[in-house]
Parts: sequence; structure tokens; C-alpha cells
Amino acid sequence: MLSLFTLRGVISIWKEINLTSCDRSQLIDITAQVAAEVARSGIKNGLCTVFIPHTTAGITINENTDPNVARDMLNTLEHLAPHKADYQHAEGNSDSHVKASLVGSSCTVPVISGQLHMGTWQGIYFCEFDGPRNRRVKVGVFGES
Ligand code: ZN
Repeated sequence: MLSLFTLRGVISIWKEINLTSCDRSQLIDITAQVAAEVARSGIKNGLCTVFIPHTTAGITINENTDPNVARDMLNTLEHLAPHKADYQHAEGNSDSHVKASLVGSSCTVPVISGQLHMGTWQGIYFCEFDGPRNRRVKVGVFGES
């Protein structure tokens, strides 16, 4: 199915969400906070980008209904990049950097009729890999009001 939108008077709005993680590795569902920023933006049709300015955390979209999915993702990432291994980086958080790059630092979601246009089972996760810490999430909304 093709949906065609002509954007007139494109607006862009950036907001910041502050988070505090409570574990070294943790997936935090931020879908509701991102959706609230989209609603506050007044933008009806366009795109929402979620970006983090961190090197030991990530952003991903995945199932947010069964909490075992988040647990399995964290366990698999820990298997791929164990906390303790033969790393050279002096800070002792090389696994966090590797996990951050595997997951990525942003995601983009369509905005249609003023709402995040995501799948039924999808949620946006902030991925902490070197917590606990205070973190920032930048939410950009682009489109027409
Ligand atoms: Zn480091």
C-alpha cells in the first residue's frame, strides 16, 4: 500500500526527555513519552526521530508486550559482548560501546494523524548498557501541522 502525503509548511520541533536508569543493562520503554512529545508538537503528518547523544546506550524498536523479549535481548547482547573480556579500552566499559553500536543510536517512526504509526506489538526502547546513569533522549518531529 502506498500512502502519499504532500508536506506544506514543514515544521521541525526538537524536545529532550531526561531518564535515569537503575541497572547497568536495562531496556526502558519510552513509547508513551515519545508519543506525548508528538502530540504536544501539534504535527499531524511527518516523521518522528528519536536520537541519543550517548556512546554506551542505544535506541531500538521491538516488542513491548512480553517483558521476556527485552530480557532475551539483553541476555543475547551480553552473550555477544560480555562485560568482562579481553578489551583494551581503559574505562572498562568496552562491552557497553559494542552493544551501543550493535543496537544503534536512533530510530525513525512515521507520524500519521498526529500519532506514532507503529505496529501493534512495537515499542520504542531506550537501551542502557552502562548504568545506572542520567541520560538524555532527543525527540525530533518533522512535518505539517
Ligand atoms: Zn568507554
